[in-house]
Amino acid sequence: MNNYMKPALALVAAFTILGGCGHEAAPAPSPSAGASASASAGSTASVTPTATASATPQAPSSAAPQQSSKPSSTPKGSPAPTTSAGKNGAAQVVAQPASMTVLVNKQNSLPSDYEPADLVYPDVPFVFNEKIEKRKMRKEAAGALEKLFAGAKKDGINLAGVSAYRSYATQKSVFQRYVAQDGEEKAKTYSAVPGTSEHETGLAIDVSGSDGKCAAEDCFGGTKEANWLEKHAPEYGFIIRYPKGKADITGYQYEPWHIRYVGTDLSKELASKGQTLEEYFNAVPVAK
Ligand SMILES: [Zn+2]
Repeated sequence: MNNYMKPALALVAAFTILGGCGHEAAPAPSPSAGASASASAGSTASVTPTATASATPQAPSSAAPQQSSKPSSTPKGSPAPTTSAGKNGAAQVVAQPASMTVLVNKQNSLPSDYEPADLVYPDVPFVFNEKIEKRKMRKEAAGALEKLFAGAKKDGINLAGVSAYRSYATQKSVFQRYVAQDGEEKAKTYSAVPGTSEHETGLAIDVSGSDGKCAAEDCFGGTKEANWLEKHAPEYGFIIRYPKGKADITGYQYEPWHIRYVGTDLSKELASKGQTLEEYFNAVPVAK
């Protein structure tokens, strides 16, 4: 290994300890191995442009950035009742996977057959050109993302998408590849178990600057793009899902690039209170 590679590998190693995105992070010294993973399965057909059944009592979340008309009756208490309790530490399956405010983490899993009904391609630049699965988001989130990117641009910040939706099937194949390579216990430390990656909701996306540097890597933190997101994402209905210093609550290290759509009512409330989604729903800490 030459000296040039060493810092890169160190970074990869550091990042893979708890990668919430569970995505391109490759566990072994083959940083490129994971890169193609999520690109492989573009097999999500049913893109219905109609509104999906959002079965929750959430506030009518408009994607409009500045709307503050509705006092909101955002859901308090339980993160949607769970339907099946997991056995010893296994994740529980969430009852309302299509909710804009659904809590998905190491303890709360999407059903294995869940596939968002309203996936679309947001009209924003990505760091790649292909129209593939990881470019998709749910319709409401995609509209909000377009407004967020436009707002950033006005402030001189040029963003690019890195990775958005990931199907259960894709997450499963990624995870299984890591299990084959490292065993399940180790794989779980750096890759999300299928059903527990927030990318499977179609409401989360990793973003970077348009140059693609530090895409979904720790060095994104502190960049002007990261700072802009931290400050402004909630205006558009997004939250920094894994904030700094909350790893013991979210189960994930700081990921300044991973934003999650929850609607403007909740995003603004969380931002003003400095709360994570787990804290809001009084969910138990998921970190180990
Ligand atoms: Zn992510």
